[in-house]
Amino acid sequence: NTATAAPVTVISGAASGIGRSTAEYLAGKGHRVVIGHFGKDPHDPQETLDLVTAAGGEGVILDLDVSSTASTDAFIAAAVGHYGTVDHVVANAGILRQAPFAQMDDASWDELLQVDLHGVMRLVRASLPHLGQGSSIVATSSIVGSYYGWAEHAHYAAAKAGVIGLTRSLAVEFGPRGIRANAVIPGLIETPQSLDSVNSLGPEGLKAAGDYIPWGRVGRPEEVASVIGFLLSADANYLTGQELTVDGGLTVA
Ligand code: NAD
Repeated sequence: NTATAAPVTVISGAASGIGRSTAEYLAGKGHRVVIGHFGKDPHDPQETLDLVTAAGGEGVILDLDVSSTASTDAFIAAAVGHYGTVDHVVANAGILRQAPFAQMDDASWDELLQVDLHGVMRLVRASLPHLGQGSSIVATSSIVGSYYGWAEHAHYAAAKAGVIGLTRSLAVEFGPRGIRANAVIPGLIETPQSLDSVNSLGPEGLKAAGDYIPWGRVGRPEEVASVIGFLLSADANYLTGQELTVDGGLTVA
């Protein structure tokens, strides 16, 4: 594998939020994007594909449930069947649940870890046989898990902290093969996940957060997408095993 001018980039959770913006951004940079679509998500992946096409790029929608090894392996096999290879991986899929720790049962803990941590492992593991010199992996962590704790979200914080350890270790293990691995750490970004008032801040909470974010507002998904694009690009050729925080200054305020 030598990542070419039109690299093939797989993105999990690409029907909405940061994943959708990343597909659009990368399409504009000449990537052929594989839009991983989780069937239970109400968002229409065709919207992502339309954005990809409008950006002058090409892509394909494929089913992906990262909580299942069979589904993840089939997704990568289908991507390789379609485009011949996989050059880059954006392990972006994630779920967020509010759960008081005293009531945390094994099923709740496991459901979240299966997607937010094990899902990253599965997607990278399935992709690895196809990756090589010039390939790049970006996983989505969070300021929760890297800087902050979050009451009633211990499983999420644990998973997102795990993503950082996983990414660093991939960078060390696969650096000699010319494969880079980094994590992006979004702050508060307006997406379906954060707009969910039950499990996250909701619209009011996001608006109020602007008061304590130095940039004066929460982030937009495209503002994370472009950083993911940078991490995948040759401009970041010597950058591996790192976390890049994209938070409008929130964590340094
Ligand atoms: P989102 O809900 O729009 O995107 C998450 C995507 O993951 C969805 O498209 C969903 O279908 C997909 N997904 C869920 N379960 C899946 C599964 N089992 N298999 C495959 N895909 C699955 O929200 P987002 O904010 O764009 O989230 C993207 C990533 O960014 C997540 O990992 C999230 O935890 C992380 N993040 C978001 C914020 C924020 O403020 N929005 C902050 C830090 C980190």
